[in-house]
This record gives sequence, structure tokens and C-alpha cells, in this order.
Amino acid sequence: MANEETYALWQQVIHRFRDNLKTESDISKMERYFPLFSSFDLVGNEFLIGVKEDFHVEWFTPLYGKSLEEAFTLCGRPNVKVKFIVVKDKEDNTIPRVPTVKPTVSVPQEPVSITAEPQPSAAKEIPYSLPLYDNYTFKNFVEGPSNSFAHSAAMAVAKNPSKNTYNPLFIYGGTGLGKTHLMQAIGHYVRENNQNLSICFTTAETFMNEYVEAMVNKTLPELRARYRKVDLLLIDDVQFMVGKKQFQEEFFNTFNALLLFQKQIVMTSDVAPQNLQGVEERLISRFNGGMVVEIELPSYETRLAILKSKALSCGHDISLDILTFIATNIKSHVRAMEGALRRLTISLELNPGIPLTIEYVRALLKDLIEEELTANNLTIEGIMQAVAKFYNVTIEDLRAEKRTQTLVTPRQMAMYLSRRLTSNSLNEIAKQFEKKHATVHHGMQTIQKRIDVEPDLKKDIEEIVTILGRNPSDIFK
Ligand code: ADP
Ligand code: MG
Repeated sequence: MANEETYALWQQVIHRFRDNLKTESDISKMERYFPLFSSFDLVGNEFLIGVKEDFHVEWFTPLYGKSLEEAFTLCGRPNVKVKFIVVKDKEDNTIPRVPTVKPTVSVPQEPVSITAEPQPSAAKEIPYSLPLYDNYTFKNFVEGPSNSFAHSAAMAVAKNPSKNTYNPLFIYGGTGLGKTHLMQAIGHYVRENNQNLSICFTTAETFMNEYVEAMVNKTLPELRARYRKVDLLLIDDVQFMVGKKQFQEEFFNTFNALLLFQKQIVMTSDVAPQNLQGVEERLISRFNGGMVVEIELPSYETRLAILKSKALSCGHDISLDILTFIATNIKSHVRAMEGALRRLTISLELNPGIPLTIEYVRALLKDLIEEELTANNLTIEGIMQAVAKFYNVTIEDLRAEKRTQTLVTPRQMAMYLSRRLTSNSLNEIAKQFEKKHATVHHGMQTIQKRIDVEPDLKKDIEEIVTILGRNPSDIFK
């Protein structure tokens, strides 16, 4: 079967599969895990899903194998057997690499106009829209497993604003990972291909300032009328709404009015809707009502692909060695990599002719690299936070004396992980947990013993470790 057909089938299956999920947590899990699938192909009756690590095969087979097969059945392919296989990058030619959306990371296949600049005058631009940055286009967005879900949803919205099931589209992820870029890419695409639609790009903060101003000037009806005329509303950084009750009310009304008239809304945020603490429940459930996609930290391969693409446009010949060095040492976010590249470019311009050696680059980027090292170091506090969130308890619960089983397991788990994932001594861990040395020791031993006999507990650990950005197999060595 041709890749295109396989891809279409896979898309259908993903939708079926998602529809069958019952809880928010299952959905958010799926959204985190599916981007880890690096390739897929249909060979005979076997649907092969490529993953990068052996442990992914062990992990995903029981977790998703059967239920994906059910989704295939629902899509009219009852005999398909799903099989996860490890595909290392170098062996990619053994199985056609078809990332969730497009076959390559850097060359867009969508009909994005590459040469012609958009004609702002022809588009129905809303005067109070903030500008779209020229380079925040799909063409300049490098796709990889960390963002391919978000990318495919953004593309679906751009091609068919409001006539899709992704309304609203909610894109979330850490800072500097490409949320604004992707959102503006939708704006660019619609501006070029759907010129009679009016587009408004704004930030939640700007929207609120306009709202406050309109209240003072008594021009609220005008403001409301203006926003309700928009066909595509792009609102960046909605986490800004946290704690701003009155503005949330206004936003809720605008939001409902636009959805009622089937206008498209896209939002970005640095956290998932359910983690927007201090935002009203009814808004959160609205945000969850369309499609929620996460942009995660890019893998090494994606970081390198992004760097290659940015290096091409910086006008200097930067060797692969240097780009590899940057991709290896700067991983926290794409903006940091761009910063590194920019610094390199400026230095080349100031000192033309200087040979670009790794040593030179290392010295030039010293502070950035050091910052990265601290950013990637896990702390006891960070582990406690992740564990508490996973088990739906508080950090105070982890430190408390109460010995109910619902608290003891998370507490001991946090102690165990603090010992395994940080270089802190038992004493230091005990201090943070406000416990005795012996209590921490006992807690660790208990978890260690339970791991061997309780597969569910082991799964929990794997999941928390993954959330913390580490490889679970390192823990069980
Ligand atoms: P966020 O809004 O998530 O904080 P931005 O969208 O502002 O991040 O992205 C930060 C910078 O990184 C921008 O210059 C953007 O072009 C770049 N960037 C992020 N992700 C990608 C990507 N996948 N491909 C190309 N550039 C990217
Ligand atoms: Mg942003």
C-alpha cells in the first residue's frame, strides 16, 4: 500500500482510537505517547509501528496493541495486527519512515506558497490584529515527533478553518517550543489560501488590555462586535487569564459567540487546559471541547534538523560538527538553540575568517551550556512535584505524617525516585521530606521490593520517569 493511503488509514484509526478513550487522562496520555511513534507501515496484515527504544515495544504493546486493533476494525480493517518494532534512525530504510504527518522533517509537502509573499491588502485583515511574523510559516516549521501531532492539527485547521473537529484547537507546551510559530503559521496559510476570511492574531494580554480600556471608555459593545466578526481568532498565551475572573467572563462570551457561528478559534498556553489553575471550570471544559495538542521537547534528531534549517538561512557556512555540538548541548528549547546560533553568526561577522572549532564554539556558548546543565538537573522538589501531580496529592501530603496507603505509596515513590534520579544523599532527601534517615531508607526498600512483584507500580514509575524526561530503563538497571 502506498504511503499516502497508509497515512490516511492511520489518521482514521487515530481518530477512532481517540473517540474510544474514556478519561481525560487517557487522552492526554495518548497525546504524549503517540508522537513517540516514529514510523509506520502496513505490510500484509501487519501494521508496523516504529519506535526508538526496546522498552517502548514492551510498554506500548500491552498498552495500545489491542485497542489499536479494535480501532482498525472500526475503520473496516478487522484483520490488521498491530506490531511495535524498534527502528533505529540508521535503519530507517527498512521501513518507510512516515512520521505522523509528513514523510520528511524539513521539506513541506503541503501546497504552501514558497515564493509569493502574502498580499496583505487582498486579505481581510482585521485592523486590530497584531502582526504575523514573516518567518513563522509552515514552510519554516521543522516537524519531528515532539510536535507532529500539533503540526498536523494546525495544518488541518489551516486547510479547513472551522470545518473540522479541531475547534477550538488548543496548543500547549513549554516556552520556546514553537507554539506561537505554529499558531501564526495557521494565520499565514489562511491569509494566502482563504482570502475572504478575516483573521485576528492577538494575545490574551492584549485582549484584556483592550477590554479594560473599553470598559473605561464605555465602548464595550464596539469591542464585542469587532471580535465577533472574526472568522479565525488566534489567541496566544491564554495562561495569562489565570486569576482574572472578570476578563474570563468576557472571554467566555466571545468564545461561545464565535463557536456558535462556527468560527475557528486557536489558543496557545504553556500548560494543559486542566492545569490552568484559577481559570473557571466551564472555560476549561470549553478548551477541552475541541482538540488539545502538546508540543514537547524536541528530540536530538529534531533539534539537529531545526538547527540545519536555521543555519541555512543565517547565510554562514556552519559545519555539521558545530551544529551537532549545539544540538547535543542545548536542549531545553528551540529559542535557546536559535540564541546560540545567533551568537555564533554575530561572532563570525565580527571576526571574519576565524576558524570555527568546537573549542571556540564551546567557549563562545559557555554560559548557555551551563544554564542548560542546571535546567536539566532534576531536583528533589521537581520530583516531588511530578509524583504529587501523578497521584493527585499535594507536596504537603508527601511531607506529612499521615500513613494512609494513598499517601504512603506516592511518598515512598518520591523518595525512591529522588535517590535514583538525583545525586542527593539519603540525609538530604530525609531533610526535604522532613523525615528520618531510616524512614527514607525503608521507603526506598519497600518500593524496590514492590517493583518486582507489582507490574502496575512499575508502570507508574515508568510513566513518572518519562514525564521527568528520563529513560525508565535506566532506573531498572
Ligand atoms: P513559544 O511560543 O512556544 O514560546 P515560539 O513559537 O516563539 O515559542 O518559538 C521560539 C523560536 O523557536 C521561534 O523563533 C520559532 O521560529 C523557533 N521554533 C520553534 N519550534 C520550531 C520548529 N519546530 N521549527 C522551526 N523553528 C522553530
Ligand atoms: Mg509564544
